[in-house]
Amino acid sequence: MLHKGDTLVIASHNQGKIREIQKLLDGFELKLISATDLNIPEPEETGLTFVENSILKATEIMKACQLPCLADDSGLCVDALEGAPGIYSARWAEKEDGTRDFNHAFHKIFSMLDPTKSYAAHMTCVLTLAFPEGSAHSFEGIVEGQISFPARGEYTFGYDPIFTPHGYSQTFAEMDRDLKSSLSHRRRAFDKLIHFLR
Ligand code: IMP
Repeated sequence: MLHKGDTLVIASHNQGKIREIQKLLDGFELKLISATDLNIPEPEETGLTFVENSILKATEIMKACQLPCLADDSGLCVDALEGAPGIYSARWAEKEDGTRDFNHAFHKIFSMLDPTKSYAAHMTCVLTLAFPEGSAHSFEGIVEGQISFPARGEYTFGYDPIFTPHGYSQTFAEMDRDLKSSLSHRRRAFDKLIHFLR
């Protein structure tokens, strides 16, 4: 369990995720540090599902620092692409020189779809909390929506500029951060985690 004042390691180097998790944990009076602060490299994601990769990241980083760790494995799944990019969401943004550019991933997705049509998609997030005594608990959140052509919005984190959640006309990247935070896949997974902690 976690108590006020405890240290929790955010098992990620992704600044977009770290920012969103810090915001979600605001008010819980935990000491938050990230894998980046501790210089612990992100383990290779060898799992075949979001759950497997989330558990792998939380437990590997927990073993390296012997502190409670919270990992997030997430991504965009497009129905017409059989769920791709899915667990490979980060890899789809990698260019030949190894740098990450989401315009590259958007281009790849758009090239496989017809921009005059509408495509169902969802964002998934699996949060895993791993404790040094060996237990690990995973929580999944999903938000349904559709792909938007072309990319829109200024808050660029990953696939936000091309994803519009159901019931809204703005992409995640056009929304106020608090609005995205209140309805995102990460928020939904986080609500389950909070319920577990209480
Ligand atoms: P991984 O979980 O480290 O494998 O990476 C997940 C990928 O999905 C990253 O490239 C993120 O940028 C992307 N992603 C995860 N959550 C979101 C989100 O809330 N908005 C946009 N992209 C996201």
